[in-house]
Amino acid sequence: NHILKIENLHVSVGDKPILRGVNLTINHGETHALMGPNGSGKSTLGLAIMGHPGYEVTEGSITLDGEDVLAMEPDERARVGIFMAFQRPMAIPGVKMADFLRHATTNVRNPERKEGEELIPMREFRKELKEKMAHLRMDVEFARRYVNDGFSGGEMKRAEILQLAMLQPKFAVLDETDSGLDADAVRLASESIADIGREKMGLLIITHHDKLLVHNPPEFTHVMLGGRLVETGGKELAVELHEHGYDRIRKAYPEAE
Ligand code: ADP
Ligand code: MG
Ligand code: MG
Repeated sequence: NHILKIENLHVSVGDKPILRGVNLTINHGETHALMGPNGSGKSTLGLAIMGHPGYEVTEGSITLDGEDVLAMEPDERARVGIFMAFQRPMAIPGVKMADFLRHATTNVRNPERKEGEELIPMREFRKELKEKMAHLRMDVEFARRYVNDGFSGGEMKRAEILQLAMLQPKFAVLDETDSGLDADAVRLASESIADIGREKMGLLIITHHDKLLVHNPPEFTHVMLGGRLVETGGKELAVELHEHGYDRIRKAYPEAE
């Protein structure tokens, strides 16, 4: 079993405190939904877990199986098996998905690898990529496109799912893409997560689409308000918030914002 543990996490952007004491433990195999109004700090939590340089941890800890994640550079975090799909994924024009995935997959499978050392053999990699894409009902042509370059919201989601399938991280943070996903794209994405096997990861899903959670029912739902997790429940909490919004939460925790 693997455990990602976040304790009393405080994060500032510039001099502005955003997260104000977040406690969250995710066990391997669990799915957690993270909800909360816009600007409450959900993306900030994900970015802090990944070690984004603009997000300064001023207090608290993040550990993976007892190892200090905060002491690791972002690429080390990826190598030890932490993955994040960003709300605003970066385009890498000129770099094909397949090449990007071959590098990333090599690094995750061989954490001791130094830059410039051998990649996974092309034949082996191609075979695996083809199998995974077929399993996810993706056209192989998709892997020839440049990473996120001109991708629609649905395609970004597909790219993220393909990364998940290839990298097989221990823990993944999936932050909702900004661009509107249509119902089909959401259904496809959620089915794909189920196909990959959410029980093989620890998942933190930040989403406004209840459909994503319907196919991947979270064991836990957390509500962020003003940089703190003010409430934790089961999947019924996610359903309630999707249906009724955050009025009840705001009334219950007036001091949080
Ligand atoms: P959420 O994902 O819940 O909508 P965010 O984590 O994106 O919330 O943002 C939380 C707060 O932190 C907001 O007030 C936002 O303006 C601020 N913030 C986040 N990232 C930055 C940044 N890079 N620069 C300035 N402010 C930021
Ligand atoms: Mg937002
Ligand atoms: Mg966000």
